[in-house]
Amino acid sequence: MKRLSILGSTGSIGAQALDVAARHKDRFSIVALTAYSSAEKLFAQVRAFRPKFAGLVVPPKELPDDVKFCQWSFGPDCLRQAATLAEADDVLVSVVGFAGLPAVLDALGAGKRVLLANKEALVAGGALVTQAAHAAGRPLVPVDSEHSAIFQCLRARDTNAPARLILTASGGPLRTLSAAEIENASVETVLRHPNWHMGRKITVDSASMINKALEIIEARWLFNMRPEAVDVLVHPQSVVHSLVEFDDGCLLAQLGVADMRLPILYAMAYPDRLTTGAPRLDLSRCGPLSFEAPDKERFPGLFLAYDALRAGGACCAVLNAANEVAVDAFLAGRLPFGAIYRTVRDTLEKLGAPDASSLQAVTAADALARRTAREILPRYE
Ligand code: MG
Repeated sequence: MKRLSILGSTGSIGAQALDVAARHKDRFSIVALTAYSSAEKLFAQVRAFRPKFAGLVVPPKELPDDVKFCQWSFGPDCLRQAATLAEADDVLVSVVGFAGLPAVLDALGAGKRVLLANKEALVAGGALVTQAAHAAGRPLVPVDSEHSAIFQCLRARDTNAPARLILTASGGPLRTLSAAEIENASVETVLRHPNWHMGRKITVDSASMINKALEIIEARWLFNMRPEAVDVLVHPQSVVHSLVEFDDGCLLAQLGVADMRLPILYAMAYPDRLTTGAPRLDLSRCGPLSFEAPDKERFPGLFLAYDALRAGGACCAVLNAANEVAVDAFLAGRLPFGAIYRTVRDTLEKLGAPDASSLQAVTAADALARRTAREILPRYE
């Protein structure tokens, strides 16, 4: 029986983790649940899973009597409490954005195994997180589908180091549009992802392919690879979830349906494999699989990852923070879609590579990047 704490349980990943946990009640018990502000959704989860601890970052108007059986905490500190709860073995970090970084460090500091669905923690604080995982002796278990695929492929490597990692990308909802159409794509168009059902932030990132930039950085840290050895291949069918290449040119790939319950349950049950409730992939019916190189002209945001990794320091934290600000402005209808990239690029140019040697330094770089990005926004509004 694994005792699981879920940070961000009302989001897409958190809800799917509870879906698979409910299928395997003999394997998982839920000891903590936290959410940002979705009180009613969290109350329903608390009633169903009866954790010891529950937290809301934004306090609710009132607490229903039938959820008062567990310990409650309100405010941002509830994440730390859930991440370090004595009763938890594993902590699934599926909060959105930079808040994932301190939560991951807290969980590792408490000796927990971290199931990582928050890529921002590694993007912003890759060196800090990998050092903390090493010190805790608890390898990070990726939940991101591409990184889960690579993690699975690497189990077959014996003693051979991988020569190259190849992250697949669906190409998102704008894959076939012209540069001019991409520049002014509407919120509605951008949120209509062809293959994956995900939260709004990551769906916008998928459309700009900045999600793939974040995933290149995530892969660099998770698998200790040189940035130039992490490549991206556009694969619109989302059947091949990523690949690993070895020195002899041999490629190993992981295939499956595009359903996040697979990588989530793989991380939760690792190294065991359990049924997920997702349909199975039938290769005889899934049609042709195609692959193409990403287009630098139409999706320049993807390539920012290599510049930021080369610059080092907190450059990747700056990239992430500026992107969060720009995505918010786009979703609020204040910024054309194409200006997300320009805002991130300009913020990176302005700030260079601030210090990243401590959580405090990274947090300061994140805050500075947000302020700078907000100053840059009016250029493009
Ligand atoms: Mg992914």
